[in-house]
Amino acid sequence: MTVGGTGWGVFFDRDGTLTEEVGYVNHPGRLALLPGAAEALRDLNQAGVPAILVTNQAGVARGYFREELVGEVHDRLKSLLGALGAHLDAIYYCPHHPDVGEPHYRRDCNCRKPKPGMLEKGAAAFDLELSRCYVVGDKISDVAFAHSVGAGGVMVLTGYGLGEYTYQRGEWRSEPDFLARDAAQAVEWILEKESLREERPGASRG
Ligand SMILES: [Mg+2]
Ligand SMILES: [Zn+2]
Repeated sequence: MTVGGTGWGVFFDRDGTLTEEVGYVNHPGRLALLPGAAEALRDLNQAGVPAILVTNQAGVARGYFREELVGEVHDRLKSLLGALGAHLDAIYYCPHHPDVGEPHYRRDCNCRKPKPGMLEKGAAAFDLELSRCYVVGDKISDVAFAHSVGAGGVMVLTGYGLGEYTYQRGEWRSEPDFLARDAAQAVEWILEKESLREERPGASRG
C-alpha cells in the first residue's frame, strides 16, 4: 500500500481519541481502542492518506514507567488495529517533561505538545504541508496545537472532549473546525471536505 503523495495527512492524539482515556497507560493491558478508532484509520488507509499518532508520554519523565513500555503499548495498539484491518503510518511520542523527573528526560524539548516537533517530523517523513493537515484530539489544547501550525483542528467528544465541551467551552480561546462524536466521524468530515476541495477546480456547479 502506498501512502503519501497527498501532501496532507491526519495527526491523531492517542488517549481519549483513538484509545480509552484511563490516565497513565502503565501496562499494555490498560490500552483499549475506542469505538470508531479502527474505522477512522481504515478509511484513511483506503484513501492513501497518512495517519500519524502524536502523543505526549510524560509518564516516562515522571518515572511512572520506563520508555520501553511505550513501545510495548504501541505494539499492542498496532496489533489491536491490525486485527480490525487498520494501521497507523507512523507513531511519535514525547517522553519528556520540562520541569519534572529524571534528568535524562527533564528538558524543554520541541516534541512535547503543544510544541510542533512531532508534527514537523511527520510532515518531513511524508512530505506534508502542515497548513493542509488536520489534528484530531479530545482536548481543546489539541485544537490550539493544530492551529499553531495552521492545520485544521477537529475535536472529538470522546475522552475529555464531552466534559471540556459541556463545561469549559465558554473559556475556549480556539474554536474547533469541527466537533465530532468520535474519530470515525472526524475522518468522515475530513474526507468529505477534502473531496469537495479537489473537485472544485474546473467543476461547474449550477
Ligand atoms: Mg487525549
Ligand atoms: Zn519531547
